Amino acid sequence: MAELRWNPLLRTWVIMSSHRHARPLLETGACPFCPGSGRVPDDYEIFDYDNDFPSLVLDPPMPDVDGDWLIPVRPAFGKCEVTLYSPKHDATLPELPLEHIAKLVDHWEGRYRELGKIDGIDFVFIFENRGAAVGVTMLHPHGQIYAYPCIPLKVQTELDSCREHMHENGSCLICDLRDHEERDGSRVIYQGSGFTAFVPPFAEYPYQVYIIPADHVGSLTDMDAGQRLELARAIKSITAAYDDLFGFPFPYMMCMYQAPTDGREYPYYHFHIEFYPPMRDRDKLKYNASSETGGWATINDARPEEKAAELREVITRQADAPA
Ligand SMILES: [Zn+2]
Ligand SMILES: [Zn+2]
Repeated sequence: MAELRWNPLLRTWVIMSSHRHARPLLETGACPFCPGSGRVPDDYEIFDYDNDFPSLVLDPPMPDVDGDWLIPVRPAFGKCEVTLYSPKHDATLPELPLEHIAKLVDHWEGRYRELGKIDGIDFVFIFENRGAAVGVTMLHPHGQIYAYPCIPLKVQTELDSCREHMHENGSCLICDLRDHEERDGSRVIYQGSGFTAFVPPFAEYPYQVYIIPADHVGSLTDMDAGQRLELARAIKSITAAYDDLFGFPFPYMMCMYQAPTDGREYPYYHFHIEFYPPMRDRDKLKYNASSETGGWATINDARPEEKAAELREVITRQADAPA
């Protein structure tokens, strides 16, 4: 079974993908992402691998059930790709050389552009789930790309907020948020050329981080090579800070927000990355429970200003360390 079913209460599509049940829970045997596996080229730097258990495909089967006026149903059209960051099985994103991460950012730009061109693809979501704590079954360093036939509800909510903010104030909400944080300073953890990173004042996760470009750009495609290199530097620095924080590979979800690719104009939207690490502390996971899941009322038991200070200290130490 693979189809999209409409949730009229939340006004969003839910992806039904029961065949994913068969996917492995944990990597066993030889890694299919390593050169020599026969599943990937013997020689690659960065490689796109079509997901073995895709939730969305370009030639979807007919839905199992008939939709009706209340609960419309659509084929699970779209694409799910895995982006292998490196041929090295035990490499981590922050350990990759800056030039390699810059190539990865360029690669993401190409995939955003190419997938966005496909008729019916409305949103290209580039993300990385890292660590068993967020359900990762393959250890080989990789991210993912989902090309959706719709705009996911959270993105739509951000778009609506940005559009209304522009209408009411004549300015970009995300530019205003970045300026607000730079003026305040207490939650800023990284200030590079062209990119600012901070723990948002309304953080839902203790170590949540936003990366926002100084320029009002809608997507990676709107950035030049120099800006993409600076984005690579910011990503390297922040993921390295996560790993240095407690001295182990820090689990996180990295989510990239770009203008939808549905053919409309989004002059009020602004590229950004949101990191969601599920750890509350060295050895404590944050669970989403009734308030979060049932009410979307998140409880963060940490002060964003304190967590930002912890991350900022690690980043300052890195900057001071001899190269
Ligand atoms: Zn591997
Ligand atoms: Zn902006």
